[in-house]
Amino acid sequence: MAEIQNVDILIVGSGPSGTSTALHLVKNNPAWAKRIVVVDKAVHPREKLCGGGVTHIGQNILARLGLPFEPKNFEVREVRLFYEDQSYSFFGNPVFRIVRRDEFDHWLVKTAESLGVTVRQGEAVTDIVPYEDYVEVITEKTTFHAKTVVAADGSRSFVRRRLKWEDDSRVARLIEVLTPENAHVQSEFRDGVAIFDFTPMTDHQLQGYYWDFPSYVEGQPYMNRGVFDSRARPERPKADLKATLQDEMAARGRDLADYKLKGHPIRWWDKDGRFAQPRIILVGDAAGADPLMGEGISFALGYGEVAADALEDAFARQDFSFSTYKARLNQHTLFKQLKIRVWLARFAYILKYPRFFRAGWWVARHVIKFTRWRDPNFVPAELPQMLLTDRMRTT
Ligand SMILES: Cc1cc2nc3c(=O)[nH]c(=O)nc-3n(C[C@H](O)[C@H](O)[C@H](O)COP(=O)(O)OP(=O)(O)OC[C@H]3O[C@@H](n4cnc5c(N)ncnc54)[C@H](O)[C@@H]3O)c2cc1C
Repeated sequence: MAEIQNVDILIVGSGPSGTSTALHLVKNNPAWAKRIVVVDKAVHPREKLCGGGVTHIGQNILARLGLPFEPKNFEVREVRLFYEDQSYSFFGNPVFRIVRRDEFDHWLVKTAESLGVTVRQGEAVTDIVPYEDYVEVITEKTTFHAKTVVAADGSRSFVRRRLKWEDDSRVARLIEVLTPENAHVQSEFRDGVAIFDFTPMTDHQLQGYYWDFPSYVEGQPYMNRGVFDSRARPERPKADLKATLQDEMAARGRDLADYKLKGHPIRWWDKDGRFAQPRIILVGDAAGADPLMGEGISFALGYGEVAADALEDAFARQDFSFSTYKARLNQHTLFKQLKIRVWLARFAYILKYPRFFRAGWWVARHVIKFTRWRDPNFVPAELPQMLLTDRMRTT
């Protein structure tokens, strides 16, 4: 049997929630770097199916970590929301940024490594057995005895399944394609416009929207097109996602059959959900994200802040029960916002009659005029602009 490696904190998964946990610990105390091991089955830069939209919430968390937003990104200056022939827009400088996840996640991993954190890539966790004094984590290459484990292994979390916490009742469904575009012709690229189209809510009984996110893949312009189905109302019939995407793309002159279709779920937040057991906590999609818009990157980064504080406290008190972890999450501003989003999703996605929708749209269009989102120069991120200007590269 391979030699056993003892470690204080083993993080399973090096997506934004895993690396954010490590980065927050190291920010609190650089000595943590040598006490953390991150394990990921993939090797960065690895593909991650995602629209790549990072809002000011995520940008602010990175800024508070002292990280200039380095990965290449597309600045969205206008978010245009559609319902049938009606639309209204949010403006900002930018409203949000679109990254490619392989680049963004790789950057976070490299940053953690540069601060001394060990990240073992290409090594899947194959078993996990909790004991009273440690958690045994078996990977393809070794066996760890970890004082604590952070499950940051995404919405299909292996750790969650192995611990038999599996519960599919709160899982949103997403499908996505990338279509090559001409950035000079396509106005979304020229004007920095991202589109959310809610028409399929009444056309296809979708509990969500169709999106168009302009992005660059290895320097070439592609439209990231997809469908988000929140399933915030699981008791209602499931929409046909492929037919929805096909129709929306056809309306934009694209044939879905010409492109490679991929899908992935997002587990969504439940304030009463299970987030911990002795010596093990969950973060990011493994724990739950936003069912209203499917925003997960910013919340994944936010989990890192709460998890780091909980871990520090556990080691300080030598109490590894994590009995207060759920309360810590629920008390954090970010997760209070998530609670509101769950409520809004349940409310918004119950509507299926066009006349209610049109009325709601009319109200929203007028309300927006009284907010700062009507101003193209509005900078929603509170981060110091000097962190952005020199080092930011927009493709
Ligand atoms: C189609 C789609 C579009 C989306 N668009 C957006 C968007 O525009 N904006 C936004 O904010 N959010 C978006 N999301 C959500 C976002 O992608 C997730 O919320 C985010 O990736 C969660 O980060 P995470 O670190 O928790 O998990 P992940 O990013 O999924 O990382 C999990 C990591 O764990 C590793 N792992 C898994 N199993 C094991 C194992 N057994 N052993 C070792 N390692 C393991 C994986 O390799 C991976 O690196 C989208 C999601 C989908 C599916």
